[in-house]
Amino acid sequence: MIPGSFSYHRPSSVQETVGLLAKLGDDGRALAGGHSLIPMMKLRLAEPANLVDLAGIADLKGIRTDGNDIVIGAMTTQHDLIGSDLLGTKIPLLRETSLQIADPQVRYFGTLGGNVANGDPGNDMPAVMLCLGATYHATGKGGERRLAAREFYQGAYFTALEAGDVLTAVRIPVPPAGHGSAYEKLKRKIGDYATAAAAVVLTMSGGKVSTCSIGLTNVAETPLWAEEAAKILTGSTLDAATVKKAVAAAEAITAPASDARGPAHYRTKMAGVMLTRALARAKSKARG
Ligand SMILES: Cc1cc2nc3c(=O)[nH]c(=O)nc-3n(C[C@H](O)[C@H](O)[C@H](O)COP(=O)(O)OP(=O)(O)OC[C@H]3O[C@@H](n4cnc5c(N)ncnc54)[C@H](O)[C@@H]3O)c2cc1C
Repeated sequence: MIPGSFSYHRPSSVQETVGLLAKLGDDGRALAGGHSLIPMMKLRLAEPANLVDLAGIADLKGIRTDGNDIVIGAMTTQHDLIGSDLLGTKIPLLRETSLQIADPQVRYFGTLGGNVANGDPGNDMPAVMLCLGATYHATGKGGERRLAAREFYQGAYFTALEAGDVLTAVRIPVPPAGHGSAYEKLKRKIGDYATAAAAVVLTMSGGKVSTCSIGLTNVAETPLWAEEAAKILTGSTLDAATVKKAVAAAEAITAPASDARGPAHYRTKMAGVMLTRALARAKSKARG
C-alpha cells in the first residue's frame, strides 16, 4: 500500500509540461487529481519514476462557451462540474453523471481530464463523452491535436494519446434546447464503479424521436457508442417493441468481463435494463 519512490515536478504551463514529459520519456507520468493513478501506484501496478503535477497550470481549469460548444479545462474537477450553472442549464447530463461518481471526497480531486484520459472502462465520463460527441484537445511534441472521443478508446487503458501528450480540454457540442438526457448506473454500493451504465441524449418532435445517442459504461474493454440501437429508435415514439429491439442491439455490442460485479451475461442484461430506464427518463425530460 506504499508507492515506490518518485520525483515530483510542478510545471506552470502546458508548454513546460510537454517539454518535461518529452525529456522524461517513459519515466514521466502526468498527475491530475491522483484518484486513479495514486491507488495504482500504491498497488505497484504503476511505478512512474517522475510525476508531473498539472495542478499548477491555471490554463487547464475552467468552463467556457465557444460558439455552440462548451469547452471544459482538463483540470476541472467533478465537483466543479456539479456546481456549474452553465452546465446545469446547457448539458445537465454532466452534472447527473458527476453526482454518480464515487463520493464527494473523490469528486473534489478527480478531474474531467483524468477521468477521460485514464482509459479505465469503469470510468463514467468516457461513455457520456461518446454519447455527447465530444472532442478532446491534446498537446504534445508536435503541437495541438483534436481527437474525437468516439475514436479515442482503443482498449483497456489504451487511448489515442501518445507518450508525452497532455490532454488540455474537452469540447462538447451543446445538445439542442429541449433535449432530454439521462445517465442510469447500476452499482453495488455508493462509491462503486458501474456494474453497467447507460447514457442517453435525445430530441423529440411531434412525439417521435428526431435524434438519439447512446453510450454504455463498463460492459466492454472500452466505453461503447451504441450507434445501431440509436438508429433503431430514431423516428419511433419509443414504444415498447422498438425499445426492446434497440436494447437487443445495444446488448449485442457488449463484451463485459465476468468479475466481482457479476457474470458477463448478467452485466450485459443490466446494460439493457439501464438503457431502458435511461430512455424513459430522457423522454420524460424532452420537449416536443
Ligand atoms: C474510491 C474511489 C471510487 C471511484 N469511483 C469512480 C466511479 O464510480 N466512476 C468513475 O468514473 N471514477 C471513479 N473513481 C476514479 C476517479 O473519478 C478519478 O479521479 C478519475 O478516474 C481520474 O481522474 P484524476 O484527475 O484523479 O486523474 P489521475 O488519477 O491523476 O490520472 C489518471 C490517469 O490519467 C492520466 N492523466 C490525467 N490527467 C491527464 C491529462 N490532462 N493529460 C494526459 N494524461 C492525464 C494520468 O497520467 C493517469 O494515467 C473512483 C476513485 C476512487 C479512489
